[in-house]
Amino acid sequence: MNSAGGLTYAISHASAALAVKSRFPRVGLWPLLIAVQFVELLWILFTYLGIEHSRITPNAVHLDFLPYSHSVGTGLLLAAIAWGFGKVARRSNVGAAIALGVLSHVALDIIQHEPNITLLPMQWGPRLGLNLQGYPVLDFLVEIAFCIFCWAIFRGTRGLLIGIVIFNLINIPVMFPRSTSFVPLMEHHNLLPTLILIQVIASWLLVWWFGPKTVIFPSTTRPGAPTLQE
Ligand SMILES: [Zn+2]
Repeated sequence: MNSAGGLTYAISHASAALAVKSRFPRVGLWPLLIAVQFVELLWILFTYLGIEHSRITPNAVHLDFLPYSHSVGTGLLLAAIAWGFGKVARRSNVGAAIALGVLSHVALDIIQHEPNITLLPMQWGPRLGLNLQGYPVLDFLVEIAFCIFCWAIFRGTRGLLIGIVIFNLINIPVMFPRSTSFVPLMEHHNLLPTLILIQVIASWLLVWWFGPKTVIFPSTTRPGAPTLQE
């Protein structure tokens, strides 16, 4: 079967940062953008180092071995560390928001991936993954709907919406690969993590460029209180 094997698209993770930001308006956008992709950054690093690896065929990418970056336990541990630092630094809301961002990555990946997410950072045990990526039309519709939902609760700008839609459209060739689409990835070991890194950075820049122009009016704004405009 042709398949991208379970690479939740960067724009979906970046959109999750918008949803977290809407709940924690005083937490900066950049810490949240990094939090939602922290697990992916680990995967990119571990893949470059050969610690984690994928199985690539001419028309499919299978993320066969990513227990260190992408296990449920890794997500919970990273979230606990962020939450703990927040407590110690008396910035509980920052810690909680970052923890939520980290967990959002694992949650979205469990929905989208083939069953390849382990409970603990080891090869042992059951593998989670609802395999949304195996149904490309549904995958496209669910991911774009999720992105637009996050944009809506963030009350993003029109420019951000257009960017989000374009980023989702760009994913279509990867969602519906041709029979030899992934041959270059087979020939160049570092190409897959590099392409993912570019996607991650591009989605960050999109949200950073269009996101901060949003003016947030908290419902609790008192008359005369300064309005958050980050
Ligand atoms: Zn991931």
